[in-house]
Amino acid sequence: MNCFRFPWFLENSPTQIYKKLWVSSAIKDRQVEVRVRFEIISYCPVGLFERLSVQINDLVTRVTEWKDGTLVRTLNDRLLLLQRTKEHNVTYLLLATRVPGRELDQGWADLMPIVNKAAGLLKEWPGVLSYLFVDCGHCFGRLDSQEWSNLSSREIGHFPGEVLYTDRPVHLTCPRTGDDINPALVYPSSPPRKSNPGLLSDVGMLCLAKQLGKEWKSLAIELGFTLAEIQRLQSDNPFSTEDSIFSMLVQWRRRQGASVNVSALAAALTAAGRKDLADSVLEHL
Ligand SMILES: [Zn+2]
Repeated sequence: MNCFRFPWFLENSPTQIYKKLWVSSAIKDRQVEVRVRFEIISYCPVGLFERLSVQINDLVTRVTEWKDGTLVRTLNDRLLLLQRTKEHNVTYLLLATRVPGRELDQGWADLMPIVNKAAGLLKEWPGVLSYLFVDCGHCFGRLDSQEWSNLSSREIGHFPGEVLYTDRPVHLTCPRTGDDINPALVYPSSPPRKSNPGLLSDVGMLCLAKQLGKEWKSLAIELGFTLAEIQRLQSDNPFSTEDSIFSMLVQWRRRQGASVNVSALAAALTAAGRKDLADSVLEHL
């Protein structure tokens, strides 16, 4: 088992295998590159790169390594590059993979666990100043490999690291050229839409019932209940208003069937004078 990485056993410069498999194979296979870059300012923690390199052992097999880089193969047989470069007082930690354009989602799925490991490691040094960027994959196709490798090149558009944890937008433009680009080049596959089953679950309804007071009848009317139905809810639950409210909400949910939605509930809450609850309901969307 490879628990340690001994830099003194490694070649100083990038290996031939790396040059062959990575540098010179970029364009010919019509691949695109997704590349995430940590910029660590002034002081890069000793051993960060080495520890990351070791931590990903369970995710990859090693293809080749040198002092400042590792080329690995993921379980899905994709090449992935970890590289450290230094310019002036900035250390760059690059994590990149290359995929055919239609496999961007899978590329991100391979890369993100490693990005998250790196981010986690960096947190262990709270004093270290680091920034996270996503380089514009569209620019990769526009530049030759030398220019693309030059991280301080002004020809590379980049996005703040937050995009990695934000829902993928429908449209995106390159910050460098203003061209419309495929959002999947920059945003990892969109997380499943939060449908929030919680709020419309029995527990969610009960929680809402507890927060409602005498305005519950207005809410019921807004939700389409008749006065007779409201009286029925009361007489069915003579000892507890909360139970009346809960029954009302559950009935409403049943009536809506598949089209049940939180926005309608929020609108009714607002109309019944409980904008505060409407807001907190919508916050969970
Ligand atoms: Zn671009």
